[in-house]
Amino acid sequence: MAEGGKNIFETGLEANAANFQPQTPLSFLDWAAGVYAENTAVVHGERKFTYREFAGRCRRLASALNKRGIGVGDTVSVMAPNSPPMLEAHYGVPMSGAVLNALNFRLDSGGIAFILGHGEAKALITDREFSPVIKGALSQLDSPITVIDIDDPYADGGEFLGETDYEALLAEGDADYQWTPPADEWRAITLNYTSGTTGNPKGVVYHHRGAFLNALGNALVFGLNADSIYLWTLPMFHCNGWCYTWGVTAVGGTHVCLRRIDPALIFELIGEHAVTHMCAAPIVLNMLVHAPDGAKQVLGRTVEVATGGAAPPSAVIAAMEKMGFNVTHLYGLTESFGPSTYCAAKEAWADMDPQDKAREMARQGVRYPTLFEQRVLDPETMAPVPADGETIGELMLRGNTVMKGYLKNEDTTAEAFAGGWFHTGDLGVVHPDGYVEIKDRSKDIILSGGENISSLEVEETLYRHSQVMEAAVVAKPDDKWGETPCAFVTLTPDAENVSADDIIQWCRDNLAHFKAPKEVVFGPLPKTSTGKIQKFVLRRQAKEL
Ligand code: ADP
Repeated sequence: MAEGGKNIFETGLEANAANFQPQTPLSFLDWAAGVYAENTAVVHGERKFTYREFAGRCRRLASALNKRGIGVGDTVSVMAPNSPPMLEAHYGVPMSGAVLNALNFRLDSGGIAFILGHGEAKALITDREFSPVIKGALSQLDSPITVIDIDDPYADGGEFLGETDYEALLAEGDADYQWTPPADEWRAITLNYTSGTTGNPKGVVYHHRGAFLNALGNALVFGLNADSIYLWTLPMFHCNGWCYTWGVTAVGGTHVCLRRIDPALIFELIGEHAVTHMCAAPIVLNMLVHAPDGAKQVLGRTVEVATGGAAPPSAVIAAMEKMGFNVTHLYGLTESFGPSTYCAAKEAWADMDPQDKAREMARQGVRYPTLFEQRVLDPETMAPVPADGETIGELMLRGNTVMKGYLKNEDTTAEAFAGGWFHTGDLGVVHPDGYVEIKDRSKDIILSGGENISSLEVEETLYRHSQVMEAAVVAKPDDKWGETPCAFVTLTPDAENVSADDIIQWCRDNLAHFKAPKEVVFGPLPKTSTGKIQKFVLRRQAKEL
């Protein structure tokens, strides 16, 4: 033991600038611009930027923001689709010291105004296509903010609302701007609002450390490298594109921008740019599966696709794999920087029947190597549930890829972190092989005659019906059973003569009888702004049936 109770390894071996630097994903850009200066970093339609150009544009943005008095402690909001300015903002804004708030472009004026106000945005960079919504939002703000317009050649209409345009702003900045890493890696890097299905959205604050780690976790889990061509089918506003905004740069890969989800265009771009990787919500995969034959193209090579954000039905996984995609299933939340969990493929699955393999893959799986711990716990006692594939508990996470907390919301932050774990609000089981399977969000589980019915399990069965395109199952109040499952179903375009009784019979043939829906309603399903099915709307409808 050395002096002062310290052991020999704690004396004279202090951290200093040579051996301890704050971890930040911003450092990936300097690295990629150094190593792959002339490689293509960003593709946007006809435009291409090399890593040297991309880094220069990001530095200019940071420098211009500083010159306008924006820096540490300020928020800069961006309303743009997956286009170069949105990607550049992921570097330029935090390089300036400010915090990036990427806005969900599907929100309405009221939603945007709430976020700009709550997040205390000092500046807003906005694509002209969204000017009608933004104009409405700006008119609801208490005090004016700096507005910069993006004049994207591929934008559809819109008008200019601000004082200057994005390219002119970049011209104000210095391409050799020297950014300083945050003094502390715990400093905020971005602010992401959850969709707020149960009230006002919550502002999730990310730290540099977590963004750095999750970007690397993504690159590891999804096998990215400098040859990767990543197609932006996932909105960059959603958990900063699940941290792939930084992850693709961390390997010197190429970002291919995409302004809107259009299956024909996705297939076209995959061919044109030899896309190797993409991420998308299960709903988008379902759109690719059900795209008209004319829109589909045979893939020249296997394309890696990671899906998550909602449970992917095994039928959708199997159909994607049949088309030549290799699916990776990810689970996570806004609070966990996007993916925290993935269904790691096992050797034994290679020889399995495709349907059975897809069912294994539909489980949420194991923690990212960059996540410290994941457990399914009884939320009352915090005791782990047995790995029997049956006992339900709440999935909890802890580690360095969990948010700082909710902005200006101490009570909810404390609740989310109670007992030293982040409570995901998702209920699941642990299988004997250690893989987690989510059964429901806690508010979605159906309690029927004293039994729990997982709405996801019933949906999984519905999706396996050849004429079902989309399905959602919610609880309907019932005098006898308390609640019964009620299914809302969209049929495939070529479906013929499918009745509610046929669907119920299919479920009875493939599920325990008490889990089969008692009622089936046909029609389109209401979706949230991030493409999730709005179960609270369906619950209201089910109540009135
Ligand atoms: P919001 O809360 O605004 O809907 P999030 O992206 O934070 O947005 O949603 C996270 C939730 O999405 C999780 O708590 C979980 O319920 C669901 N989810 C995400 N990925 C999966 C998945 N692979 N399987 C099942 N549910 C998922």
